[in-house]
Amino acid sequence: MEKSLEAIAASAGVAIGPVCLWVGMETELNKTKITADGIEHEKQRYRDAVLACCQQVQQVVDAAGPEEAAIMEAHLAILEDPLLEQLVFERIEALENAEHAVYLAGEAVAEQFEATGDELTMERAADVRDEALRLREQLHGGPARPGLSVGEPCVILAKDLPPSFTAVMDREKVLGFATELGGRTSHTAIMARTMDIPAVVGVRGLMEAAEEGAVAIVDGGAGTVVLNPGAGTLATARVKRQALTRRKAQLARLRRLPAETKDGAVVELMANIGLERECGYALEQGAEGVGLFRTEYLYMQGGDFPSEERQFAAYRYAARQMAGHPVVVRTLDIGGDKALPYHSYPPEQNPALGLRAIRFCLQHPGIFKTQLRAILRASAFGELRIMVPMVVSLEELGATRELLAACMAELRAEGRDFNEQIMVGIMVETPASVVLAERLAQKADFFSIGTNDLAQYLLAADRGNEWVQPLYSHFHPAVVAGLRQVVQAGHAAGIRVTLCGEMAGDPRAVPLLLGLGLDKLSMNASTLPSVKQMVRALRGQDARALADEALAAATTAEVEALLDRFMRTHGPAEDETLA
Ligand code: PEP
Ligand code: MG
Repeated sequence: MEKSLEAIAASAGVAIGPVCLWVGMETELNKTKITADGIEHEKQRYRDAVLACCQQVQQVVDAAGPEEAAIMEAHLAILEDPLLEQLVFERIEALENAEHAVYLAGEAVAEQFEATGDELTMERAADVRDEALRLREQLHGGPARPGLSVGEPCVILAKDLPPSFTAVMDREKVLGFATELGGRTSHTAIMARTMDIPAVVGVRGLMEAAEEGAVAIVDGGAGTVVLNPGAGTLATARVKRQALTRRKAQLARLRRLPAETKDGAVVELMANIGLERECGYALEQGAEGVGLFRTEYLYMQGGDFPSEERQFAAYRYAARQMAGHPVVVRTLDIGGDKALPYHSYPPEQNPALGLRAIRFCLQHPGIFKTQLRAILRASAFGELRIMVPMVVSLEELGATRELLAACMAELRAEGRDFNEQIMVGIMVETPASVVLAERLAQKADFFSIGTNDLAQYLLAADRGNEWVQPLYSHFHPAVVAGLRQVVQAGHAAGIRVTLCGEMAGDPRAVPLLLGLGLDKLSMNASTLPSVKQMVRALRGQDARALADEALAAATTAEVEALLDRFMRTHGPAEDETLA
């Protein structure tokens, strides 16, 4: 029987398809040590997994058209590669369990491909990682992540999806997803928007109502999930899906037009990415650079901390792809709602207030230096910048600069090229950094405001907790006042201020942000065209007047009412801006 559930809209778009229930894979990436008498057993597990995976891939080859068959035959060759087997066995003999041995061996082979620097050969690295993942799933006891490496396109329903899942999700296979937990700016929701996958979060009672294989509609714009839809509901959803596709095509016509207001002020619009492969999509959507590269997704893809070479390849790829446009690489922002499956954290009562981001990095200088060295080396290939997350003190920025200087000295001694003048900025996303903005602006080369965390910490409302979502708003007067303070402090010190939280991708917020004086906006690439449309409909003086009114508003509701009225009176008349 048709059942409709309402929840939080996380990523716009309509997905229709069979349900895959996702039940978690926490143990899959576990690395354990074996004993010497377990070596033969692990090797046999590996051989069995290879056999099973070859059969899976062979089935795909048999059913595929000539083009896909050729691709999948290359995947078969990877699974059967004696070098891979040799490397896996070496690791098992060093007492790694088969899962971790496969991960390490796969990385070693992939890195060899990446080291060539040749684009086509580098793509082989992704194939190797895919097959290593398939093998690990098989070792784990079958495909633990539906739609990831096998199976039909589906709609995923889950209690919760860790961001590490979204980092490896197969975009072709995952039509959309819905989760019981989570808020609009939880990282899983952000990843859905980054990848342009329809998603709904915070759906109460979802897993109890869901049935494997039944049809579901996820409407990520309306924030609804319909299970077992009737013929009428299905037809309406299909019509809406078509209309959205048409609108996207219309907005795509703005791609080559500048992000310029009616009175000629140019605003830089940049993309937030999680993985280097998203650069192509960002460019397609008209991004003039990457304003936030969330590097933690690189760390979530594998079974261990990524090596310097792996990271170097990723950052160099992004630098080259963006061809002279800036790429702001945020240093590892782990902890909070982003865990690394292979790293054990100390138990924390309040992870969002715990060993996150720069705190983690400064406590693990070895891990941090690996990343800083990789970014520096890649800076020889484009306009890379470094951005430090979760800063609450000048000391953190100072300690980062010291480690960076040490890395520079090492690279100089090794005779490697890098940008000696690389810019180092900070994310302003904690109340302390707002209060200290004037002093931090003397030491940072740029500011980028992270409203997702700033709203969470200013309002003491967990960004991922659906129960406090009504409290959590980037339109709260405290957030608006904080933005003004940071922009003024940055400009007084002569540095530029970007906003890279989800607020930047909200067309309704754009007039307010420009009125407050932000220099650049960085957002999920999928929202960039509608933000550009908004910018092109605006006049600076109207935006400034709106900002003054919003700064004087006493409540979130008042701010929102002002923005809604502004949209009605000054918002884009579709045909005008699309023409
Ligand atoms: C933010 O906090 O606004 C931000 C952009 O960073 P993240 O969402 O990754 O925490
Ligand atoms: Mg943040």
